[in-house]
Amino acid sequence: MENVYLKYGVKKVINASGKMTILGGSILSDEVIEAMGFGAASFFEISDLVNKTGKYISNLLNVEDACIVSSASSSIAMITASMIVKDNLNGILNLHKVKNRFKREIVMAKGHNVDYGAPVETMINLGGGELVEAGYSNACSKEHIEASITEDTVALLYIKSHHCVQKGMLSIEEMVEIGRKYSIPVIVDAAAEEELTKYYDMGVDLVIYSGTKALEGPTAALVVGKRAYIDNLKLQTKGIGRAMKVGKEGILGLTKAIELYVNSEKVTLKEQEEFLTPFMNNINNLDGISGKVVRDGAGREILRGEISFDADKFTDVKKIVSLLKSGDVAIYTRDYRANEGKIEIDVRAVNNDELNIIYNRVAEIALEEK
Ligand SMILES: *Cc1c(COP(=O)(O)O)cnc(C)c1O
Repeated sequence: MENVYLKYGVKKVINASGKMTILGGSILSDEVIEAMGFGAASFFEISDLVNKTGKYISNLLNVEDACIVSSASSSIAMITASMIVKDNLNGILNLHKVKNRFKREIVMAKGHNVDYGAPVETMINLGGGELVEAGYSNACSKEHIEASITEDTVALLYIKSHHCVQKGMLSIEEMVEIGRKYSIPVIVDAAAEEELTKYYDMGVDLVIYSGTKALEGPTAALVVGKRAYIDNLKLQTKGIGRAMKVGKEGILGLTKAIELYVNSEKVTLKEQEEFLTPFMNNINNLDGISGKVVRDGAGREILRGEISFDADKFTDVKKIVSLLKSGDVAIYTRDYRANEGKIEIDVRAVNNDELNIIYNRVAEIALEEK
């Protein structure tokens, strides 16, 4: 393989920040790459491929139906459109021209109206939907959702994500209860979540998972749920869905990644701790810096190395973050608590050599910056 870094002059990246879309999400296993290669080099009847891989995945997960789409974002738009026009061909073909002839309100908690890298609301609008925010930024109860339901409501959307306000929000179970009571479908965007059947089993009608996050697959996404809704979602490929087409290599790659994900042993918390401990011990030997292993803030089975810089020695931890990014090899850490003097190292895609590079660079910067 020719040297891409040299040829195009792009930087090497060590990704200690997690599944960040701006860094390309995940690194794929050889088996997934092989499946993608086969997909790229072969022809299929595409609708057959979509249907049969969907069936394979639904058997694997024991859900009614499933479908691979191009991204979690596009699935929000396509699902919105499909909830509005259902199987009405005129509606599918002319979504934005005829949308006022269809009901099109999507109800979601205000605290869920987040920007995950792009705004949820923009994806809803792309699909012809109009967002109705329920409750307040810090509080949304069942009653708030119910009070926002009108004649024009076509779906309830719940964003299960660390990006959202966590306190004061109704649960997914409560959202499902409301959906049942008013006969309105419930959609859960679980893009970065790890449990592929949990929300479906709670009675959610459609659940969305991004391909490049927990699943460690290619740029694509998985939607699982009730067949009637998945069927309507697929019809969108005649309309706006064409602009969000998933390739055969993406379909085969993500299907393989899901199979591997379901059958693989998860790295245990203990194994994660063992991997992190020598690094944290080294960090603790640096003057004015302390390290400890911490659990993921959103409660997922992820441990990270938290590095705290003493406030009296290091005044500008944001600068340290940008120095880490601007070296010969760009080192990306989790920096959303830099203002508190802390950064976190996510090691899910970091090997031992890279961990050493991170340590050396932190030590070097620490000397310069003190
Ligand atoms: C990442 C993310 C998305 C978008 O996923 P893509 O597959 O990159 O489009 C949507 N919603 C949430 C909550 C996310 O975290």
